[in-house]
Amino acid sequence: MSVFQNFIGGETVAAANVSRNINPSNTGDVIGEFASGTKADADRAVAAAKAAFPAWSRTTPQERYDILKKASDEVLARREELGRILSREEGKTLPEGIGEAARAGQILAFFAGECLRFGGETMPSVRPGVGVEMTREALGVIGMITPWNFPIAIPAWKIAPALAYGNCVVIKPAEIVPHSAWALVDILNRAGLPKGVLNIVMGKGSVVGQAIIDNPDVAGISFTGSVQTGRRIAANCVAASPMKKVQLEMGGKNPLVVLDDADLKIAVECAANGAFFSTGQRCTASSRLIVTAGIHDAFVAALTERLQGLVIDDALKAGTHIGPVVDENQLATDEKYIAIGRDEGAKLHWGGERLNRENPGFYLQPALFTGVANSMRIAREEIFGPVAAVIRVANYDEALAVANDTEFGLSSGICTTSLKHATHFKRNAEAGMVMVNLATAGVDYHVPFGGRKGSSYGPREQGSYAREFYTSVKTSYTLA
Ligand code: NAD
Repeated sequence: MSVFQNFIGGETVAAANVSRNINPSNTGDVIGEFASGTKADADRAVAAAKAAFPAWSRTTPQERYDILKKASDEVLARREELGRILSREEGKTLPEGIGEAARAGQILAFFAGECLRFGGETMPSVRPGVGVEMTREALGVIGMITPWNFPIAIPAWKIAPALAYGNCVVIKPAEIVPHSAWALVDILNRAGLPKGVLNIVMGKGSVVGQAIIDNPDVAGISFTGSVQTGRRIAANCVAASPMKKVQLEMGGKNPLVVLDDADLKIAVECAANGAFFSTGQRCTASSRLIVTAGIHDAFVAALTERLQGLVIDDALKAGTHIGPVVDENQLATDEKYIAIGRDEGAKLHWGGERLNRENPGFYLQPALFTGVANSMRIAREEIFGPVAAVIRVANYDEALAVANDTEFGLSSGICTTSLKHATHFKRNAEAGMVMVNLATAGVDYHVPFGGRKGSSYGPREQGSYAREFYTSVKTSYTLA
């Protein structure tokens, strides 16, 4: 069996313990054994990153560009193989896995370009003869803690800007999907990163993640994951001495509003894609479908027909539309919420049953609830599975009020042919991202990503906005 070790200070470092990475489409398929690191491994990685920082932060933009571009080229050339690695460990379909791998390559290329575009500003002083410069400097060592649902794109959209702006990195990927992040770190290191600039320590959040957060030589933490873990990390970062800069991307309970005047085909496609593709395991998934009374029945009927045609099967099999749930724990959570929805009085209109396929895996038929009130737990709490709730409303005003009645604020969508309602919704949706006649999930990589309220904390990720987190501004005054 293949064994994948941590990579620290430019070397493969064998861990005392390993954990098995299991294919959720076929639990008999063990992908490999992956290091389960310790606090000592995390501390060693931070020390290596700290030692590498002075030289790396002074490299020329060309040196950083060359490495990121070379890594991008390799990721794009190997997108099919990397996509297969990803789908095998996470369970999204092969086309989705290949698409995500390609996205990682595009992100690396974008941030290669950022090395060259990145500059400062000058202004005249209010005092005679004085010039003022505003420049941005790298923070130092950045700790990254990532979730399981985008095993290569999220590591890429954190690592690439961190390196482009001159930081060094210690990343801890989610325990259940380490292979994709490991492959990305391997590619970047072979592309020419000096020793210690990019380190990976795999293992448990409570051990490796906590050790990274507790290390005083880490200047900033970029975290994506659940609200519960995010809150704990933020509290740790603020209480630390010195305090750490922190960026959190967390959960969602994203609304998709469907108005009477919507194009039904577009609305159904937005709902099917947004709620159920990638097995509903996206922070931007449309888990609340808020539908006005005049189109409600036609929409539910058409969406049900669409769901009946979806193939739920092995992620690597040609023709599969929806792969398995990521693991037994998440499947149990999905089933728990399906039971809660029924107990609360919502109607399980379609699906929600475990499915058996050729190989043993975590297969769940997408579940569509109707008759849902926005006060029910299935409309308020993030489930993070292929479970969506249809909420019937009277009109646009009620739809907007229900859409905003949530503690989250990541993505928000509307399907309408009315310019007036689309414009009003874009202005008034309490979310970091708004989609008109598009699924709530599915974003570009060159523009900011992030949310409001309970979904996000700190500066945005992606695009050139990423520099807000990964750099610190310096204002210099010079008497000429
Ligand atoms: P999670 O919070 O359980 O784990 C995320 C990461 O934190 C993992 O690497 C885990 O090992 C680590 N961790 C856990 N406990 C820790 C601790 N005490 N100290 C340090 N690290 C710790 O989340 P998950 O189940 O992996 O991911 C699903 C969640 O991620 C969902 O809530 C989803 O909405 C969210 N998510 C958000 C975005 C976004 O950009 N907003 C994107 C993807 C996923």
